[in-house]
Amino acid sequence: MKPLSQRTEIFTDSVIRRMTRIANACGAINLSQGFPDFEPPEALTRRLAEIAPVGPHQYAITFGAQNFREALSDKQFHFSGMRYDPQKEIVITCGSTEAMMASMMSVCNPGDKVVLFSPFYENYSADTILCGATPVYVPLSPVDLSFDADVLESAMAQPGVKALVLCNPANPSGKVFTHEELSIIASLAVKYDLYVITDEVYEHIVFAPHRHTYIATLPGMFERTIECSSLSKTYSITGWRLGYVLAAEPIMERIKKVHDFLTVGAAAPLMEAAVTALRFDDSYYAGLQAHYTHMKNLFTNGLRDLGLNFTEPQGAYFVLVDISEFGYGSRSSMSDSHNGMCDASRSDAKCAGGTLPDEQFCIDMAQNVGVAAVPGSSFFREPVDHLVRLHFAKKDETLYEALNRLERLKKLKR
Ligand code: GLN
Repeated sequence: MKPLSQRTEIFTDSVIRRMTRIANACGAINLSQGFPDFEPPEALTRRLAEIAPVGPHQYAITFGAQNFREALSDKQFHFSGMRYDPQKEIVITCGSTEAMMASMMSVCNPGDKVVLFSPFYENYSADTILCGATPVYVPLSPVDLSFDADVLESAMAQPGVKALVLCNPANPSGKVFTHEELSIIASLAVKYDLYVITDEVYEHIVFAPHRHTYIATLPGMFERTIECSSLSKTYSITGWRLGYVLAAEPIMERIKKVHDFLTVGAAAPLMEAAVTALRFDDSYYAGLQAHYTHMKNLFTNGLRDLGLNFTEPQGAYFVLVDISEFGYGSRSSMSDSHNGMCDASRSDAKCAGGTLPDEQFCIDMAQNVGVAAVPGSSFFREPVDHLVRLHFAKKDETLYEALNRLERLKKLKR
């Protein structure tokens, strides 16, 4: 048989989603793939029930139902002050996963380069590779998650670089980029004429005093920002797969075409129901913020009581826990590795064969402690394998039970 495509050979399946399967297989509490175990807002599920007997049950317009795009345009205007034209500048996708893929395919030619901050959400490198492009990584400091503006500039200035991916608030680090940092990124994007493809799915999960700024609102950025986001996190409906892209018309024309042939469209009854959520008033978002702040405090206080070291999230719902003390070994220290950018596909960052220390730790933790996490190595370009990612988008009782079980972590010490 002829060999299958090279593009699909050089990355692995998603370690995040693999950990969910492992968690399910061994009955562990799943703090790996980030999704809530609490219910979506009642008004939303009530509306879904109303729709069931009457529809719509057939295709919506391929770019997303008109009323959904209008409601989304209003919501975005409310929170960012930017008015996106529902006809020309919005497309509704199957999750922000499709939004990101369609955006990347619309921007990149084979051989192009895309700048990613490391650590990064694992889809970005796979998306880049699937487009025949190459990721260029810029490390965030392990100490304060800052970036070196000179390192960023030399990455963005490289020949062939077409775009930068910005996840803000960031998965997995919990970083919320400041206005000043975004201004640096924006001015470099303008200077080198690059697109900025954003992933802003955690836009409404930000912990005071941090604040979310949409980079599209900065000078010169509307015409070059491709904003991807979704309803998954904001309304606790990850399974509905409702995402979207917001971008200026010339870019959006291309993205719409890609979307049309990738998936045809998002689920019509779910879009109809979700209009209700897009029209929620400010009290909903204040409640969401308060709920996530509560979950963050409960969980991080528990981790502190257990004597664990972890990153304090500024936004999103993840912590990176340091597992160095458990003696699983390490390939190299972070300080050694965070001294520059790398320019190859992520696949060769993986050990040639074998299981990494943090991967083995996560398997042992799922099986013997009953809590599933994601090995940190799946987010880093650098050889970092002393961190695991846990998420806290869970009911109080789930978080308490997870913290109870984590007391058994000592058993893993080697
Ligand atoms: N963003 C979530 C995470 O990182 C889940 C994403 C997904 O699996 N689609 O865990």
